[in-house]
Amino acid sequence: MNPTLTAHARKKDPAGLPAETMKAVAVFPGKPGSIHLAELPKPMIDDIPNGRGVLVKVLRVGLDGTDKEINAAEYGAAPPGYDFLVVGHESFGRVEEVGPNVTELVPGDYVVATVRRPGHSIYDVIGTNDMTTDDVYYERGINLRHGYLAEYYVDDVEFVVKIPQGLKEVGVLLEPTTVVEKGIAQAYEIQRRLRVWRPRKAAVMGAGTIGLLAAMALRIRGLEVTVFGLDRRPYLNSDLIEALGARYVSTMDLSVAGATGRYGPFDLIFEATGYSPIVFESMQALAKNGILVLSSVTGGDRTIEVPSDRINLDFVLGNRVMVGTVNANREYFEIGVRDLATCEAEYPGWLPRLLTHPVDGLENYGQLFELLTMGKGAVKVYCRVAEE
Ligand code: BGC
Ligand code: ZN
Repeated sequence: MNPTLTAHARKKDPAGLPAETMKAVAVFPGKPGSIHLAELPKPMIDDIPNGRGVLVKVLRVGLDGTDKEINAAEYGAAPPGYDFLVVGHESFGRVEEVGPNVTELVPGDYVVATVRRPGHSIYDVIGTNDMTTDDVYYERGINLRHGYLAEYYVDDVEFVVKIPQGLKEVGVLLEPTTVVEKGIAQAYEIQRRLRVWRPRKAAVMGAGTIGLLAAMALRIRGLEVTVFGLDRRPYLNSDLIEALGARYVSTMDLSVAGATGRYGPFDLIFEATGYSPIVFESMQALAKNGILVLSSVTGGDRTIEVPSDRINLDFVLGNRVMVGTVNANREYFEIGVRDLATCEAEYPGWLPRLLTHPVDGLENYGQLFELLTMGKGAVKVYCRVAEE
């Protein structure tokens, strides 16, 4: 039987069978701590036009600081017509059904969906909605679009990326990896200004999930990597960094300036601490022609005093660059898939070690968010929504 036809028949059923529903985890944006279990109609393949829909059964969803902020009502908005937002933007699932015009995927394929959906600027129109200049942006699980912490989702195949079978254990790490991939790809793209760019020394500011993935991506590109974290080694994150053949520095023992004198200066710095003052220390740790990539979303209003003449002079005299990066389009998901595969080949078993805090079932959303806010030693908190 053609599964697409079944879905179609169900929608049109004149007997008016009650629509199938599913569970999802949602918040009321603007209301702190409002995380709850919601019941929604199960999405259908023909919710997507042109026969290009993909219905995905959600297997795993990862959580991060953005979800924490959304539940604290510091961030996030409900889709038009709803007072709640289904959360979850780090997805992993299996295709259940595809529309008649989908050739890229078949039922049974493992997939991860991108997060942002197109707006109206020229950058959206050319397929780079991660570079939108619109004031409003649409992000599933974050802003104005429901997310993936649910039993199912449907989307246009254009936004659904295939994951090789051999990566199914770590597929849920793809979305955070793409944030890193975009930053690094942008750095290399910008550095084409130099005609020749052979970066050798990199620094990563922050040893959280993004810092770890950045260290991984830079190590598999052959750079010498120094990662700065707060806590003293040894602990899981410093062990993971050293397992990549990278160096871990605790800023309790050695300042950024001190470590730069010893191990730098750095051709590429990836900032992922969430602590904005580090940006200005990083600016002073760059080598000539070096590039600093900023990825921390700092919602606060912290201010500090900085040696502005010094920093400016060094930037000018050294042709240095600083660039911000957010989100990732499909291109970076595809690069991310390749890097996850390379990582499994080069450092087997390393990625699974990041999956520290699983929680089984959507109904345990309370525990999920408790681990997210208080979990000691958590690298990745994630929900096992369903077993295969
Ligand atoms: C997500 C990005 C998103 C950003 C800003 C991050 O947590 O991973 O996809 O663009 O938040 O909303
Ligand atoms: Zn995120």
